[in-house]
Amino acid sequence: MDVVVQKFGGSSVADLECMQQVMAKVKQTLQQGSKIVVILSAMAGETDRLISLAKEWSKTPRPEEMDVLLTTGEQISVSLFSMLLNDNRIKARSLLGFQIPIHTDNSFGKARILDIDHEYLRNLFKKNDVLVVAGFQGCDVSRNLTTLGRGGSDTSAVALAAALQASVCEIYTDVDGVYTTDPNVCPQARKLSRIAYDEMLEMASMGAKVLQIRSVEFAKKYNVPVHVRSTFSDEPGTFLVQEDQEMESVLVSGIAYDKDQARITLVDVFDEPGVAASVFEPMAAAGIVVDMIVQNPSREGRTDITFTVHKGDLERARRIIEKIKDNLGARGLFTDTNVNKVSVIGVGMRNHSGVAAIAFKSLQAEDINILMISTSEIKISCLIEEKYTELAVRTLHEAFGLEKEPQVTGFSE
Ligand code: ADP
Ligand code: ASP
Ligand code: MG
Repeated sequence: MDVVVQKFGGSSVADLECMQQVMAKVKQTLQQGSKIVVILSAMAGETDRLISLAKEWSKTPRPEEMDVLLTTGEQISVSLFSMLLNDNRIKARSLLGFQIPIHTDNSFGKARILDIDHEYLRNLFKKNDVLVVAGFQGCDVSRNLTTLGRGGSDTSAVALAAALQASVCEIYTDVDGVYTTDPNVCPQARKLSRIAYDEMLEMASMGAKVLQIRSVEFAKKYNVPVHVRSTFSDEPGTFLVQEDQEMESVLVSGIAYDKDQARITLVDVFDEPGVAASVFEPMAAAGIVVDMIVQNPSREGRTDITFTVHKGDLERARRIIEKIKDNLGARGLFTDTNVNKVSVIGVGMRNHSGVAAIAFKSLQAEDINILMISTSEIKISCLIEEKYTELAVRTLHEAFGLEKEPQVTGFSE
């Protein structure tokens, strides 16, 4: 039995008309003789609406209850879509995460999938041609409902595709593939026909929300063939593939930006062993992800430590630092949320030098000041003032000539 997994995001199920387009996609695939697992997100804007509702009701909603609330968004989509399919004589039923079940750990709001009862789903295919599964949700061993973090329906889809050994996992969205950068920010962005798992992983981690990071991790680990494409056209989109030699010869494949950054600076702490550990150990213990870190001596025996966290973690991080800062001799503590991160990504960077210089030079030409820098084997990230983000993305895109098909030779060392 050939199984195809198709995931449709919020804008693809925004209203009846959109859902009819989704049904047209499903019909096309059924005609090819496959069984289909359709994963749906909440209707566009619904998850945000539920989050603001919770904020009205409670200052500190319990994470368990947040997840009970947020799972309702996807529940609405799958029930309505199943009705539509059955009215059109397609044998289908809806399924919530806990009914399958999709087991997760109990990190409410950012749960990880542990296992999926795929036998149960296979049995349901005896009576159904389409199983309409709610994305973004699962349950823990104590029967609590859990959610997988924003954009989590992508991960539900890839995990189900891996569990069912689906022939393809199609991620349908409002753009027709993965582009060299966000096409809504840079009109010159070019659609990629394929992208290496590692590049996509960096793009997603650096803020490209077209796929949730964990979905790419799953896809890479289980070698799931993922195809990102548009609900509203029949054009082929972008395939996630293993890296090959041709890709390595391309210097830069994309630019990403992340608007979810906040910067913390501890001024003039003692420059001695153990100071950094006493800052970052309690961060780790509190589950706060620290991204960029810069330490630079301010004067004899003293140093400044600057680092970034997710905006949502800033308040908790600040409270932790307030408690320890006097013991570290700090003369000040500053926080800044008007910062964003732009990143240049490409597997070709492994073997070529000069990428950082091109990036920095092009930002200088636009008078954009770089506040922090971090690098990995295949990416360079710069923290910049928020107001320059779109300009920086377009500038870097142009500097690396990403609007043109890449030349296969690249730079040499
Ligand atoms: P869905 O609701 O279908 O899950 P998302 O809004 O989560 O859709 O993701 C699609 C959006 O991702 C696009 O509308 C686009 O603005 C954004 N995006 C960011 N970077 C990229 C990129 N490199 N390629 C394509 N889309 C991108
Ligand atoms: N509805 C959830 C969100 O908005 C999950 C998803 O769409 O993937 O983040
Ligand atoms: Mg999404």
